Amino acid sequence: MDYLKKFRVPVAGLKQGKHLFRFSIEKEFLEHFFFQDLSNILANLDLSLDKQPGMYHLVFEIKGNLKTLCDRCGDDLDFPFETNQEMFFKFGQSPGEESENIIVIPFDQPEIDLSQYIYEFITFAIPLKKIHSQGGCNKESLKKLNEIINTPEKKKTDPRWKELEKLKTFNFLPNGEKKKNNIQ
Ligand SMILES: [Zn+2]
Repeated sequence: MDYLKKFRVPVAGLKQGKHLFRFSIEKEFLEHFFFQDLSNILANLDLSLDKQPGMYHLVFEIKGNLKTLCDRCGDDLDFPFETNQEMFFKFGQSPGEESENIIVIPFDQPEIDLSQYIYEFITFAIPLKKIHSQGGCNKESLKKLNEIINTPEKKKTDPRWKELEKLKTFNFLPNGEKKKNNIQ
């Protein structure tokens, strides 16, 4: 079954006025979009959809938990998140994005697919710096990281460096004069 199907709201058949919907957002949601750092999600979306003459007004309230990796120690990090957003879908002749939260759709569009918007709202809700609260980091991991940082870098042993060394030797004669290239 198409997991994202449940996020398509059949708007055309709704009566005028406010309608409330609840959706659950699970780990499977992450498989359909590109989330750089998330490994799990469990959240609820409470959607209020107001059908008015000429447009739909949607208010999104997403609340739940995300699982990602700590930027400091690299261990799993669970954090609660919450975001409130609104979107307007108004009827018009030329469908497309009028602004960040105003979308023009044909008046007879049968449904609105929420999944792309949910993806964007979750992405906005992820903090830039994701770290455990004080003292919550994995001490072993931090110790190992410190060892790596404080170990001097080994001498380059990449074979390409050796080739470069050879070139340097062959291009110069012992008296320092540059040797002519053998290209005819
Ligand atoms: Zn940590």
